[in-house]
Amino acid sequence: MTNRVLIITADSIVAEDLEDALGKVGDGQFSVQRVSHLSESIVLLRTGGIDAIMADLSLPDSQGIETFDKLFAVAPHIPIIMLCVADDEMLTTEAVQRGAQGYLSKAHFGSYLVRQTLRNCIRSKALEEKFFIERTRADITLNSISDAVIGTDMSGNVDYLNITAENMTGWTRDDAHGHPIAEVMHLINSVTREVERNPIQLVLFHNKPMGLAAGTILVRRDGREAAIEDSAAPIHDWDGKITGAVIVFHDVTAAQAMSMKMAYLAQHDFLTGLPNRVVLNDRINQAIALGKRRSNHFAVLFLDLDNFKCINDSLGHETGDALLQSVAQNLLLCVRSSDTVSRQGGDEFVILLMEDKYGEKAALTAKKILAAMTAPHTIVGHELHVTTSIGISVYPDDGEDVETLIKNADTAMYHAKEKGRNNYQFFKNVMNVQAVERQVIEVNLRRALELSEFVVYYQPKVNLATGIITGAEALIRWTHPDGNMELPGRFVEIAEDCGLIVPIGQWMLQQVCAQIGCWQKAGLRQIPISVNISALEFRHKDFVEEVRTIVNAAGISPNLLQLEITENVLMSDAKASIKILLELKRMGMLLTVDDFGTGYSSLNYLHQFPIDVLKIDQSFLHDIAVTNGNGIIVSAVIAMGKSLRLLVVVEGVENQEQLAFLKAQHCEEGQGFLFSKPVAAELMAKLLVTGLSISADKS
Ligand code: C2E
Ligand code: MG
Ligand code: MG
Repeated sequence: MTNRVLIITADSIVAEDLEDALGKVGDGQFSVQRVSHLSESIVLLRTGGIDAIMADLSLPDSQGIETFDKLFAVAPHIPIIMLCVADDEMLTTEAVQRGAQGYLSKAHFGSYLVRQTLRNCIRSKALEEKFFIERTRADITLNSISDAVIGTDMSGNVDYLNITAENMTGWTRDDAHGHPIAEVMHLINSVTREVERNPIQLVLFHNKPMGLAAGTILVRRDGREAAIEDSAAPIHDWDGKITGAVIVFHDVTAAQAMSMKMAYLAQHDFLTGLPNRVVLNDRINQAIALGKRRSNHFAVLFLDLDNFKCINDSLGHETGDALLQSVAQNLLLCVRSSDTVSRQGGDEFVILLMEDKYGEKAALTAKKILAAMTAPHTIVGHELHVTTSIGISVYPDDGEDVETLIKNADTAMYHAKEKGRNNYQFFKNVMNVQAVERQVIEVNLRRALELSEFVVYYQPKVNLATGIITGAEALIRWTHPDGNMELPGRFVEIAEDCGLIVPIGQWMLQQVCAQIGCWQKAGLRQIPISVNISALEFRHKDFVEEVRTIVNAAGISPNLLQLEITENVLMSDAKASIKILLELKRMGMLLTVDDFGTGYSSLNYLHQFPIDVLKIDQSFLHDIAVTNGNGIIVSAVIAMGKSLRLLVVVEGVENQEQLAFLKAQHCEEGQGFLFSKPVAAELMAKLLVTGLSISADKS
């Protein structure tokens, strides 16, 4: 490669000597360009392509050090070699100090030293440039990375900080320079809060890479703290001698918070914040281990909210979620801090009660929970009432492992549901048999609709004064292929739990409306027929529209259809109930509150419900003759119904004594085995024609 050399001198002898020296070998390593004025050289340098300059400082158009300065300003990156032509050694030395690469004395202008000096200067300039580029690259890299980097000398005093290190420590590079690393990077232990030794000190001592102890905290200059992770390493010179160290570290505060959050989420239910299934299982396992050693007992409570599905479906998931959160809070208030309340998912909760020898604590806690649940939950403008069914299993009698204990508590919970909900039951072995039976029913129920195994029975309602049939209640029956007939008490609740009640209820409404149409065509006396509506149907968002469609399709007058909704269902969200009832009322439907007296009616709401009939639950009648107490309630309810201008019907009238009592109370209507059991449609039609054989007048 040929290097272009610019020779600047007005002395032609000097120039020729130099040219000779450069061209002597004839290897073409140098090509020479020669000028005598500074101005010429500047023009040439601006056009570029010059690799080295040999300059005489005394030129016709410039003298002294000024000549060098001007050249250097134009070509700071081209090596400049000063030519000592006269006795101006002082001057050339000054030029070297100001950036000249070297100088050559007049005595050597013709010698091999010209070539050697030029070669050295060009090489050293190239190395300088390379070094500059590498340094710049390192600087940019260190300032671009998100890790903090601090360098120290052999004594552990800081000599370098990148920008991240400046931000993280709060020290600028200038401030930090020369300060001990322990001062700039103040480290403490996150637990003990004691000062930690800086890894740099260890690196300098052991002369090998080191990491920080876990849980180290960096205290910034302003006192703020950050959890950090780091590594430090020694720096060696050419001979492998340690000259200092670097430490690289980064902020792990956010990562630590995230991993703590992940650990929390893995153990807690996202909705209620209660421990989840994993934690519960772990705690029960611990309790079992403890129980084995100290023969301790403990109890597992399985809770399921009654009618939660209904609230969720009708009021939306957000309301349902808020209700679950509110319930979770209530549950926590019912147990001790050593107990565990967990959510299993959905509306199911499991509670582990420690140290419960005979299940006494479990019974007490269950009672406490049932009582706590009676308070309404106010959720986005709704006053919601929920009840819960609770099953209890006790270790070790009802199971010796987590799975069995929970399964048996679950079975007991189903039993509590069967017993009318809103109560608690201890697990008994027979329940397992019942749980299996229940499952069989659920499976068969799914087929029953398709196979048309349901039939509708009708039970007359009677005017107590005249004995005339004033209406009838449609009651579902399930006839099995073997001819056995199943009563709703065995399957309606199961159908509600698995949601099948919605299509079954639709089927009932269609059947009854079709039957009303049939009887109308046959010219029979027209009486309203009532259909029972379960919670899930009533709260179903399309319920009103579906009823309308069915009534219209049957082409019957809406006031021949009566809907019976239980008091509990209506009161579970009274405000929403009023809306639905009003729409049904607007359609012309007759509305009945069923099983009145068994729930927690608020008279205030009852007054606002657009209802026609109060149907007093049969439980009030059963022992009228035995105690007078219930009689008083029945008469009070009858009086209340009258004052609300509602028709009062009493159900479950079985004997003359009850009939006489009701008549004495001026109760208008009754329904019960005394008049007729529920009968098939054909028989009901006959009864409409012939009237009842037992006359209400017989009393
Ligand atoms: P409910 O609506 O209170 O119906 C009255 C129940 O009392 C009927 O039982 C009826 O047979 C019975 N009963 C009538 N008179 C007497 C009497 O003098 N003494 C006694 N001990 N009982 C009497 P059933 O048919 O077994 O129905 C039980 C419950 O099942 C009904 O109570 C109702 O809540 C529900 N149910 C019946 N059919 C349907 C239906 O189609 N859909 C829905 N969702 N539920 C229904
Ligand atoms: Mg009814
Ligand atoms: Mg009833």
